[in-house]
Amino acid sequence: MYSKIFRAVIIGAPGSGKGTISERIVNTFGFLHISSGDILRQNIINNTELGRKAQRYIASGQLVPDEIVTKTMLGRITEVGNKSYILDGFPRNSAQAEILSAREQIDAVIDLNIPHDVIIERVKNRWIHAPSGRVYNIGFNDPKVPGKDDKTGEPLTQREDDKPEVVAKRLELYDELMRPVLAWYGKRGLVTSFKGRKTNEIWPRVEVFLKEKANK
Ligand code: AMP
Repeated sequence: MYSKIFRAVIIGAPGSGKGTISERIVNTFGFLHISSGDILRQNIINNTELGRKAQRYIASGQLVPDEIVTKTMLGRITEVGNKSYILDGFPRNSAQAEILSAREQIDAVIDLNIPHDVIIERVKNRWIHAPSGRVYNIGFNDPKVPGKDDKTGEPLTQREDDKPEVVAKRLELYDELMRPVLAWYGKRGLVTSFKGRKTNEIWPRVEVFLKEKANK
């Protein structure tokens, strides 16, 4: 649809709706969605060496060491080749942002700014289809059959790291780590923040923003 290669980073705390917004970006603009969390979880399911290394950090709400994540993500970016993409979950701190910038020219950073109380309430209702990473939110985007994935009919699960204590810890960690990342991209004039309590209010603004940006 758009001839220019567009490379975006989407930033938002866990549960901020970045998965849903990313999916809409994929469907509307045809960008590839490269999610570090999905890649790591898939590796855990497949019991790869990477999955075994990452598992204990993820289960306790800690970040996976930079070395493991950057190697994995740069590897995926190389596989993708010359295609527009949206990075989700990466970079997660300044060290990762530095390493990414040495390799890739990022065109835009989309910052989803959602209050913590909204996120904690939302995450309680979140169910996922682990093999694909598809996310359902009870009362907002319910599966067609309760407890089952729409495409495969397989059972949905709640993530270990969606437990309230772990979520609160992740949000604190997240804010602390992302502040310098946002400042880093902010200095380069790349950050656009979208504030709000509902994904359906934020999405039209993201769509307009990307239509303008990706067309240039
Ligand atoms: P997410 O689905 O993005 O919330 O990621 C789930 C978990 O994977 C996080 O809580 C981290 O433990 C780990 N993770 C994902 N992306 C990164 C990253 N860029 N750096 C370090 N750990 C990550």
